[in-house]
Amino acid sequence: TINPLNLMGIEVVAEPGAMILPLSAGLPDDMFAHDGQITKREIRAATLSALAPRQGEMLWDIGGGAGSIAIEWMLRHPANRAVTIERNHDRAARIARNALTLGTPALRIVEGDALETLAALRDRNTPPPDAVFVGGGIGSPGLMEGTWDVLRPGGRLVANAVTLEGEVALLAAHARWGGSLSRMRIERVERIGTQSAFRPAMTVTQYA
Ligand code: SAH
Repeated sequence: TINPLNLMGIEVVAEPGAMILPLSAGLPDDMFAHDGQITKREIRAATLSALAPRQGEMLWDIGGGAGSIAIEWMLRHPANRAVTIERNHDRAARIARNALTLGTPALRIVEGDALETLAALRDRNTPPPDAVFVGGGIGSPGLMEGTWDVLRPGGRLVANAVTLEGEVALLAAHARWGGSLSRMRIERVERIGTQSAFRPAMTVTQYA
């Protein structure tokens, strides 16, 4: 066997700054350009697990942010497809750049409000998605119901919330449709002066 990292005795190392894509979900946050609005790596890995992509399936990703969920969905299999809805213009443009950089240029990006876009997709008789992820706008009245309504039978709905308003919507969803609720809190080590400490990120409540 030939080890490509040690070909003919020549040590081949990656260029500084090169991105090496692993096969697993949960890429390092810095592989995506972002402005802080990104699902953190550990939470993202758990979210992809809950979304449970199978080959050839379609995801609608509501509140695209940096596009990390939709891009990682598409990276699971070349036949996977995704639409991401993001109302912020700069973020929508950033998602497009991330999709190009990470090799999923077929990601469809809709710049617009979640509820309005869902209604427009429905009016156009767009085939229902196999899974929907709600990562933004959860507190907007009617968004969870609107999302539930577009799912096909057997489809998966996953939603992450960090605000109280979002949690209320997830509690209501759980009471109405069943499913599971869980909470995740990531703490990462950061420097505090000359020492280090675990700094907790906002707790994420997940409905699936
Ligand atoms: N899952 C994303 C991060 C989402 S951050 C990632 O990992 O990259 C939440 C995003 O939802 C923000 O970019 C915000 O602009 C967007 N958003 C919030 N409410 C929205 C709404 N009603 N319609 C569309 N996008 C919305």
